[in-house]
Amino acid sequence: MRIAVIDYDRCNPDKCGNFLCERVCPVNRMGGEAIIIDEENYRPVIQEASCTGCGICVHKCPFNAITIVNLPEELEEGCVHRYGVNAFVLYRLPVVKDGMVVGILGPNGTGKTTAVKILAGQLLPNLCGDNESWDNVIRAFRGNELQTYFERLKNGEIRPVVKPQYVDLIPKAVKGKVRDLLRRADEVGAFDDVVRELELENVLDRDIKHLSGGELQRVAIAAAILRKAHFYFFDEPSSYLDIRQRLKVARIIRKLADSGKSVLTVEHDLAVLDYLSDVIHVVYGKPGAYGIFSQPKGTRNGINEFLRGYLRDENVRFRPYEIRFTKSSERQSQASDVLVQYPRLVKDYGGFKLEVEPGELYMGEVVSIVGPNGIGKTTFVKMLAGVEEPTGGEVDWELKVSYKPQYIKADYEGTVYELLSRIDAAKLLNSFYKTELLNPLGIPDLYDKQVNELSGGELQRVAITAALIRDADLYLLDEPSAYLDVEQRLAVSRAIRHLMEKEGKTALVVEHDVLMIDYISDRLMVFEGEPGRHGRALPPMGMREGMNRFLASVGITFRRDPETGRPRANKEGSVKDREQKEMGEYYYV
Ligand code: ADP
Ligand code: ADP
Ligand code: SF4
Ligand code: SF4
Repeated sequence: MRIAVIDYDRCNPDKCGNFLCERVCPVNRMGGEAIIIDEENYRPVIQEASCTGCGICVHKCPFNAITIVNLPEELEEGCVHRYGVNAFVLYRLPVVKDGMVVGILGPNGTGKTTAVKILAGQLLPNLCGDNESWDNVIRAFRGNELQTYFERLKNGEIRPVVKPQYVDLIPKAVKGKVRDLLRRADEVGAFDDVVRELELENVLDRDIKHLSGGELQRVAIAAAILRKAHFYFFDEPSSYLDIRQRLKVARIIRKLADSGKSVLTVEHDLAVLDYLSDVIHVVYGKPGAYGIFSQPKGTRNGINEFLRGYLRDENVRFRPYEIRFTKSSERQSQASDVLVQYPRLVKDYGGFKLEVEPGELYMGEVVSIVGPNGIGKTTFVKMLAGVEEPTGGEVDWELKVSYKPQYIKADYEGTVYELLSRIDAAKLLNSFYKTELLNPLGIPDLYDKQVNELSGGELQRVAITAALIRDADLYLLDEPSAYLDVEQRLAVSRAIRHLMEKEGKTALVVEHDVLMIDYISDRLMVFEGEPGRHGRALPPMGMREGMNRFLASVGITFRRDPETGRPRANKEGSVKDREQKEMGEYYYV
């Protein structure tokens, strides 16, 4: 079975030399019609039945607009939805089961949202043909766990609730006070409990438009949980939350399943996904072209297969390499030249006071900053940069700092290329930057797009690139993982490490994704205190010491998975959890 997908956003018949693909196609040259021109829409159409899959058009198209893949025949009957001729195809669906949290793991653009829209009854799947009724869908899933689900959906017995991915967009759609919003949502009479559990007491009387990303995330989760429904979908519930909040949210979502509801979640923080899910599906394929849901897998095994890039039951290798985490107790940072040695610093804003213990940063290292939001991380860096004057201590150097904030605005008028070339056009042509940064982050594919039309994940990748190509001594990246899928998180981590090593620069990365922290950091800087009131910045320390210090304050222990070396959160109160806490080893056992 062969599918041909054309990305018409990229296809530009006038600029490729007048339908180049049609002219080079050997079938067409022999008088056949593998590619025809749709005159009305002025675009090429590939007829899959006539195409031989030679791949010539794929290589010749200057805009990488064409994908041709051969897929196993048995997938054909699992074809669930196709958006149109030469459009994205979705194969198979995840299971939904009462009393279970089903996790979905896979790259962006492989059909996760499409699957959820189908399960929520918002999109009638066309079964890759011209289907127009739910009865056919029920028939197509006969004998499958989804048969009953679709029967209930058709009869209006299933009410779905969705927690959307981009919580930053909520203030555009919903106005008013948090209290009123949550009161309106409360159909189960659990307002007080949910507000307490999600620590929302202090924001109840705030206007939604004044909430931070982390607050919006928790309000959105609360609003979903308060609804009375059968099927709950949480799209990336961890963005903008710190580690403690992430695991708390995971426990609350689990409770929903324990009360008999069916829950589906997409989550790219693997420690959270692991902690949250009963089973997971890996979605694989090619973003924008096709996506296939794997069989349901046990959570640990599923995540390991994902990291290995090989699905055993399916006998499918979907990535040519494995992702492994360093098992050695800690990575030794290269003792190199000191970038800056800073004294004890104090910043007192009146309402908030930050005390920084003296420390030093080396050239060529990546230091992750951990700690809750509102604890003074940005304030610290602003002092290092000389932007903010300390109230105590003195800053007598000038460091050039490049900063990617946590919340990125897309208010630039122009294309991605214009934005980036204005910062440093030479770096866009530099082969080191191309191989280490631009290509792995998929930036060249975005060059022609308008900045204000980018999706959240695209914008994040562009903002990270913009920060990293700027000439500076110190790079500060605040939550670079938000809205990125796992592959992109790892690509960003690798890019940051390689650039700092090669250029001898220093990066401070504020992160809450434990796997990413593990992957990226030479050392760790822990911030403690009470968010919004006072903070204390400890000097940068080794990974083991730092993680122990930090996780002890949060009360969570991690162990390493023996196969992949990835960190896994222990269930609270489990034997491992108690043993590790007793030994004071919260992280490396
Ligand atoms: P994910 O949630 O995994 O990021 P989506 O389900 O949102 O993926 O989208 C998968 C692909 O389907 C997208 O890359 C897009 O190309 C395509 N797609 C989504 N919606 C439509 C639509 N209405 N028409 C055509 N193509 C669409
Ligand atoms: P983080 O980066 O850890 O989220 P910040 O350094 O941004 O924390 O902020 C820490 C605290 O300082 C917050 O409570 C914030 O409201 C307060 N704060 C930040 N900048 C100012 C300012 N210019 N004036 C008064 N308070 C401020
Ligand atoms: Fe030209 Fe590529 Fe479009 Fe074919 S798909 S018409 S080669 S731009
Ligand atoms: Fe023609 Fe080959 Fe492209 Fe198929 S893959 S449309 S046969 S050039």
